[in-house]
Amino acid sequence: MAAASTYKLSATRLNRLFLAGELSAVEITESVLQRIKTVEPKVTAFLTITAERALERAKKLDSRRRAGDTELGALAGVPVAIKDNLCTDGVPTTCASQILKGYVPPYDATVVERLHGSGALIVGKTNMDEFAMGSSGENSSFGVTRNPWDPNRVPGGSSSGSAAAVAAEEVPISLGSDTGGSVRQPAALCGVVGLKPTYGYVSRYGLVAFASSLDQIGPFARDVEDCARLFSVIAGPDRRDSTNAGRTPPAIKFGGEPSLKGVKLGVPREYFAAGIDSEVKARLDEAIRQLQALGASVAECSLPHTEHALAAYYIIAPAEASANLARFDGVKYGHRTSGASGLLEMYGKSRAEGFGPEVKRRIMIGTYALSSGYYDAYYKKAQQVRTLVMRDFEAAFAQFDALVTPTSPIPAWGLGEKTEDPLTMYLADVCTIPINLAGVPALSVPCGFAGGLPVGMQLIGKHFDDHKLLQYAWAYEKVTNHAAARPALEGGL
Ligand code: GLN
Repeated sequence: MAAASTYKLSATRLNRLFLAGELSAVEITESVLQRIKTVEPKVTAFLTITAERALERAKKLDSRRRAGDTELGALAGVPVAIKDNLCTDGVPTTCASQILKGYVPPYDATVVERLHGSGALIVGKTNMDEFAMGSSGENSSFGVTRNPWDPNRVPGGSSSGSAAAVAAEEVPISLGSDTGGSVRQPAALCGVVGLKPTYGYVSRYGLVAFASSLDQIGPFARDVEDCARLFSVIAGPDRRDSTNAGRTPPAIKFGGEPSLKGVKLGVPREYFAAGIDSEVKARLDEAIRQLQALGASVAECSLPHTEHALAAYYIIAPAEASANLARFDGVKYGHRTSGASGLLEMYGKSRAEGFGPEVKRRIMIGTYALSSGYYDAYYKKAQQVRTLVMRDFEAAFAQFDALVTPTSPIPAWGLGEKTEDPLTMYLADVCTIPINLAGVPALSVPCGFAGGLPVGMQLIGKHFDDHKLLQYAWAYEKVTNHAAARPALEGGL
């Protein structure tokens, strides 16, 4: 029988209780849907809630379990939310854009198929910055999502709804996408765990493309074990994505005494430079001492090209976006203008009406950077800088097993505070963007509070060391109390 607080349980626990027959999938789903009903007016994390579909699947799962099926899966009975740039068969997928309003994909993304295959119950699609371009969620054309820790602050972005839904205990786990920080940064600002897997580990088939050489799908959870469980379900070979690495992650086991004995950690000084909030820095200093107390050796290091990474990203990502978004032309998908007299006018008007200001800005920057005469000065130069950034990481990983940095230099800021100035908004990603340029994995794990707002620690690893990062983060989480902290949504807001 479901208790009133069933929705609070972790994915790992819900799965165990479901498999043991102590909670039915329908009870779990109902508890989560009730919680969503209660807090959603305050958080607005969702664009679509798929209550009926989830309950339908839950019923089927319950009868399979009663019939003695033992292959129900690692997420059987676990509710999950997914970002609205992941294609879902029969369920609207909008990328929070007017241009995709009303688009209903005829197929599931690979990660969605895998979720279904593992017995997960998708309860809805979450809000985001339009086409995943942004750091606050405010670029959604369907309204803002609020930070569950303070309703007047942003939850971070672009996976704003996926992070907020997990922090607000609307779902135990969710999926986002990370092109320059969009899983890790909102995870940090909302006080949850978020992983950007190694480029190529998770299939991007069915993810609406933003910048194809940078995009990865990643999990959110309230603790590291749940994050690892969701990662293990979504990662692995897929022939439908040509950039997929074809690798299956090793089984990740947690348990025993938390220890980091023999682990060499580097602290790149460029990530603690000007612009970092003093309380964020203090939380990181404490976290580093705790990592040392767990047995890790810690030394300062340098990633000298860090300061150029942001500029390179803001050429490469818009360049790829301008090519990827050319397909939204009023013919194949979504919005088409009603008032055009010819083909070219129809293209122009459909796009002018359908895309929001930030998306238009990126398309213009990208088209300009790729145009003949400017290609060498911008795009080629940015790719050369990208190589230097990658080499920085290679050199650091010759000495260290992982690197420790803040995820965001500042905690959650006020709604509307940065919307007038795109450059200050872009600066929010200084700590996360270099990782996407290098294609290496990184996660954000809560490491305390600054002025009552969550702070995230970023752990960066070698290619395909995602499982090690999760193990390090698990050890850290075990000796701190941060995973237990929850926003007081019932009172405030
Ligand atoms: N905030 C960054 C941008 O606006 C990263 C977005 C992302 O990772 N999708 O491009």
